[in-house]
Parts: sequence; C-alpha cells; structure tokens
Amino acid sequence: MLDYDEFQRQISFNSSIRKAEKKLLYIKGKGSDYMRLCRCQKIKQVKVEADISADPLWCGRCFANLDMNDFPLPPELKKELQAWIADYGQWIDWENDGIVKGGALMEEQHNMRGVVLAGRVKLTLEDQYDVVFAPAIFSRRIIKNAL
Ligand SMILES: [Zn+2]
Repeated sequence: MLDYDEFQRQISFNSSIRKAEKKLLYIKGKGSDYMRLCRCQKIKQVKVEADISADPLWCGRCFANLDMNDFPLPPELKKELQAWIADYGQWIDWENDGIVKGGALMEEQHNMRGVVLAGRVKLTLEDQYDVVFAPAIFSRRIIKNAL
C-alpha cells in the first residue's frame, strides 16, 4: 500500500513526465521549422521570435530557425537573448493546453522585453538585414478561443 507522501510524489513525477512529453510533442509538431535549414540564397529579413528550445532568430522568408552564432552579435546581447528564450512559455499550462494564472501578463512582459532586444539586434545588423520582431501570441490565441 502506498503512503500519502509516496502517492503525492508519484503524482508530481507523472505530471512532470507528461509535461515533458507534451513539450516534446509540441516541438515535434513544429519540427519542420526547427529541423529545416535555411536554404535561401541570401537572408534578407531576420525575424526575432521566441519559441521553445530554438534560437531567437528566424529566416523571414522560409521561417527556418537560424543559428544565432552565425550573426555578429555582441556576446552580452546573445546572453540576454538566451535568457529571454529560456523564459519563453512560463505562462503556458502544458497539461491543459491553457495559460497559467496571470499568464497573459507574463506573455506581454516577455514580449516587451523582446521588443527591446529585437531593437538591439536591429541596431547591430541593420546594415545587412531587415530585422523584425514577432511577439508570442499563445495566450492571446487561448483567450480569443475562449470567448
Ligand atoms: Zn530562409
């Protein structure tokens, strides 16, 4: 027979596995974008957008994820971009395909941070690329569907 503590531990263990599986499915579902390499002859537009386990830069034409290290960004900006990416999705309730309490605000704050970072990327790369920012819209979509 399980005691209560053991039972609780198992529940939380199972739920973290489910969470990880869900994330993996989510990533796989969008796999083509993640795995595809940009084969555009010349990248013209670079999109700054946060997503799970991806680099923050995307080809604006074919939407392939780009390697941030291929761009001459200052190391401290790369670090901040990485921290920003790591923060992505804290507002997502993976188990219920919903948003956590206060999630819409978290996403909004994440986007505001993104605007500032994208601005710095633009300043660095604007001689070579047209840099644009795409905000996270997960909670906006959830809220819209619920209405
Ligand atoms: Zn491309």
